[in-house]
Amino acid sequence: MKNNREIFNIVVVGHVDHGKSTVIGRLLYDTKSLTEGAIERVKRISKEKGKPFEYAYLLDAFEEEQKQGITIDTTQLQFHTAKRDYVIIDAPGHKEFLKNMISGAANAEAALLIIDAQEGIQEQSKRHGYILSLLGIQKVYVLVNKMDLIQYSEEKFNAIKLEMNEFLNNLHVYPLKYIPVSAFFGENLTFCSEKMAWYKGEPLLTAIDLFEKDKGLQEKPLRFPIQDVYKFDNRRIIAGRIETGSLRVGDEITISPTNKVTKIKTIEYWAERDRTERVQAPMAVGITVADEFFNQRGEVIAHSDNIPLIADVFRANIFWMGKNALIKNKEYKLKLVTQAVECEIQSINKVIDATTLGAIDDAKAVKTNDVAEVTIRTKKKICFDEFKNNQITGRFVIVDGYDVSGGGIISGLVMSARSASTFSKQAMQMVISCFDEYYYILSEGIVKRSKGKPHTFCIGDVIPSVGVTYEYPPDFDVVDIQTKLIAQIRKSKLYDIVTFAAYQYSGIPLLDSNGLVLRVDNDADFSQFIGELASFEEVGLAEFPNKWFDFAKFRQIRYLKTSKSLNIEYHI
Ligand code: GDP
Repeated sequence: MKNNREIFNIVVVGHVDHGKSTVIGRLLYDTKSLTEGAIERVKRISKEKGKPFEYAYLLDAFEEEQKQGITIDTTQLQFHTAKRDYVIIDAPGHKEFLKNMISGAANAEAALLIIDAQEGIQEQSKRHGYILSLLGIQKVYVLVNKMDLIQYSEEKFNAIKLEMNEFLNNLHVYPLKYIPVSAFFGENLTFCSEKMAWYKGEPLLTAIDLFEKDKGLQEKPLRFPIQDVYKFDNRRIIAGRIETGSLRVGDEITISPTNKVTKIKTIEYWAERDRTERVQAPMAVGITVADEFFNQRGEVIAHSDNIPLIADVFRANIFWMGKNALIKNKEYKLKLVTQAVECEIQSINKVIDATTLGAIDDAKAVKTNDVAEVTIRTKKKICFDEFKNNQITGRFVIVDGYDVSGGGIISGLVMSARSASTFSKQAMQMVISCFDEYYYILSEGIVKRSKGKPHTFCIGDVIPSVGVTYEYPPDFDVVDIQTKLIAQIRKSKLYDIVTFAAYQYSGIPLLDSNGLVLRVDNDADFSQFIGELASFEEVGLAEFPNKWFDFAKFRQIRYLKTSKSLNIEYHI
């Protein structure tokens, strides 16, 4: 028995025949997760059919074995590396996958999106990209497979990478890596391919070990929904289950949505041996608080420095299973942890047929087994989190009459239209242009900057580190000379935002908010930069940026014939 090994769930998606089964078969084979029997059987079948050994058949053999209960008793595919165990979330059909993901039956933490290098990006590849965005899967590698069929060409790989990246970025999916592979020949899977010496990244098996595991339930911010309040002696005991995070006696808490602030007085216990000062998810507990407000079921307790979102209008993605179609302006009940509230669909923004993934324009209703992007209005304010930040308080069900008819995940608040991208940490906001693209327009003879789709990046969000005209390293800091704030990017995620005063130069690249590199190598340089910044602000000379900023380190300017194609949004 392997105990306490980390388990990581991955889903593999891609257009049919682009190589999903072959990639999975190879991963199982190369990590020795298959029995000799299965391999022998595939060899025999291949020989009988007069065909070369197909890794894709391994998958069938493996699944067959599992069905017969020979190996393990789950239907999931598993393999392991030295670091951890992997479970490949089966996506036999999009419908099941979407339903399972939205309802919480499955949880893919990361995705491999496979594209055939020769066939290039197909409509299905784009739809799969859209699904990742719909489900808020942020950890994505794109595998450009069958590189052997395009003679391992770096140029063609780059062309696919640029096209797919532009498309995915528009959907706010920012792949962490693009890996050129030939699953059939095992190139760039377990070892670095000599045939693609131009590729400087890791082979697939090394790269998947680099996916960062989500924080465990206990490490997330405290979310303690109230189930009931009991009167006991003279005390009012608040009971419920801690969904995420932990709390201890003396902690300052806020009870939302009314945002009453108080302190934890006691954690109740039945027997002396259960006495504790600290409890954590997923424990069911009873507590008392210092101020006896009128607390009730449905309210959510959080630490005051990190409370949930509170709103009565929000955006969500829904999987609908109801007998009757989901329609606008009808009363439904929405249940989210212990909250139950009347709601209605304010708008149906997009409907997707879950079997074909085709988009249905102008849908007036969401039919059984459709997926939809909707805006929901609740009768009173409720507390929740975005699904990508908290999968428990970001998920709800919709009840139609007496039947649970749909499941949904919250994608965010309804924001007024924004014109600029920002890095954001509560009140700290930095307007950024480092994800804009620069093009030299041949027909006009000038350089133009193309703005990315405006987006707010919050702490923990993956940022687009690869663009058409830039490529940033996984770790860097972004200096905003307007607000005097510095954003820290670690492992391609927004890690923190600090003030100049609180900043410690640590040797990693420093960029300005346009993505230009600061010529700073040490603490002394950084202090000098800050010093000169003050005088530059007074006179506004070009000398200052010319001295300190280097455009070309991570950026380049690409040629475009005309500027017509800039800023095009793809509509599925
Ligand atoms: P799926 O439908 O996405 O699961 O695709 P499969 O894994 O079944 O692969 C479809 C076909 O492409 C099979 O005949 C594979 O042998 C072939 N194939 C997969 N990977 C490669 C590759 O790297 N190079 C070449 N030349 N063929 C491949």
